[in-house]
Amino acid sequence: MIDLTVRFTNKVIVNLTSGCWEWTSTIDRGGYGRFKLLGKLRQAHRVGYELLVGPIPAGCDLDHMCENRRCVNPAHLEAVSHAENCHRIYHRDVSLAA
Ligand SMILES: [Zn+2]
Repeated sequence: MIDLTVRFTNKVIVNLTSGCWEWTSTIDRGGYGRFKLLGKLRQAHRVGYELLVGPIPAGCDLDHMCENRRCVNPAHLEAVSHAENCHRIYHRDVSLAA
């Protein structure tokens, strides 16, 4: 059996400009990468974060600070509460619309 970390990183291409780890496998309708783990499809950035950083605190979302949903680089992800993540997304959208 191939090591999980190897299987995961085989699906990633590093963008040398942004530093993003671009997911090259399945992408869901929301634009997030998908990774099959223990028979279940999971969001790739969450799997990567758990593999390389540690457990995501209960009830937390991972905010893409690079705003690239395909990105699975744990250094570009921050665990925040769901409310905080919605707040950030709202303010980003407002600033993009301005
Ligand atoms: Zn990124």
